[in-house]
Amino acid sequence: MLLPMHPKPFENELLSSWVTRIALENGLYTHALYKSCLGLDSSIFIRDIDKFFVPNLVDSLEQSTGLTSDKIKKLMLTGFEGRITEKIIINSASRWILPLGIYHRTRKNKGVVYCPQCFAETPVKYYKRIWRLSFVVMCEKHLCLLRDCCPHCERPIDYQRLGIGKTQFETPSNDLGLCGSCTLPLWTNCSSEIPSEYIELTGAYLSFLKAFTLNQPCIPLLKQPMELQEFNGLWVLISSILRKHYFNSGVRANILKFTGIDIHSSTGTHVSFDQRPIEERFKILLAIFWILDKWPDRLLQLAGGTIYSKSAFKDLSESPPFWLNTVIHRHLDKTIYSATDDELLNIENYLMTHSIVPTTKTIALFANMNKGTCRDKLKTLR
Ligand SMILES: [Zn+2]
Ligand SMILES: [Zn+2]
Repeated sequence: MLLPMHPKPFENELLSSWVTRIALENGLYTHALYKSCLGLDSSIFIRDIDKFFVPNLVDSLEQSTGLTSDKIKKLMLTGFEGRITEKIIINSASRWILPLGIYHRTRKNKGVVYCPQCFAETPVKYYKRIWRLSFVVMCEKHLCLLRDCCPHCERPIDYQRLGIGKTQFETPSNDLGLCGSCTLPLWTNCSSEIPSEYIELTGAYLSFLKAFTLNQPCIPLLKQPMELQEFNGLWVLISSILRKHYFNSGVRANILKFTGIDIHSSTGTHVSFDQRPIEERFKILLAIFWILDKWPDRLLQLAGGTIYSKSAFKDLSESPPFWLNTVIHRHLDKTIYSATDDELLNIENYLMTHSIVPTTKTIALFANMNKGTCRDKLKTLR
């Protein structure tokens, strides 16, 4: 049976957002809609319904809204399969998808983000599908930072909780832009402006974001036939740069030196990209797109004087795609890379004129060479 109110989903809306709007427009809280109208039990609350396909939910939504199940499924994150990842993993972390960290009925993680300016200007507020993706950190319309928690109570965004604890006879306010915990408007009391020192660096990232939303090749410079190859490489590249051993031995310092971006990790360096706070992901993405903007020269610039090399890509969960692999083997293999005799002598002279003792280690560092190879070469030279 059709519900009295059955608003159409927006084209880019997330399933859980649409379901919550249906509930609120019918004067119900989500839990009441699930139970009384859709005939679902409370286990639905411990599911991430945007990832996890619940046949009963889709069937009852089809019957109560008139929208076909195919159209309903398009609101799920599984629609990104084949583009950003081969398969969305249902029961554990899925690459590029922000984890909700559902524990009983509450969400521990900041797994949904939103644009305060989009909310401020639209009467009907809804959550976009791309706001669950970890690489989406800016609003391409308002060129501002997205937010990952309530500006009043700092709790994660959880619109499905609107009205939890109230009886089903209390009429909810029909607004997805209110915090599910403190019910204050999510678009007030916060600034989402990009810090001025980063504005210039956002260009490359915004081009990528725009191409992604338009379904176009996201990093055209790489000339990849499939988006998946771009995203797989992006993941491997980010993972290699964030690896503690390399990150703390020059990579972080070089990023700061060349871009002015200081990536300070508040969660610890072992944490994956998807689990980091939005401010940190924003900085990492700016650095990565600064690199990709002049590929591969800037990766080599970043590696200069550090131990970041081919080994940074070893033992990662997957091997790099071809576009990245060729660069790694051609330019980042420090075990075979060898500076010329003249280069080594120049480095030695340079160090001495700058009152630095030209030890093998220092020379190898300046020559971007493996220490052992450098030692052997210096022996033959002296
Ligand atoms: Zn916006
Ligand atoms: Zn709040």
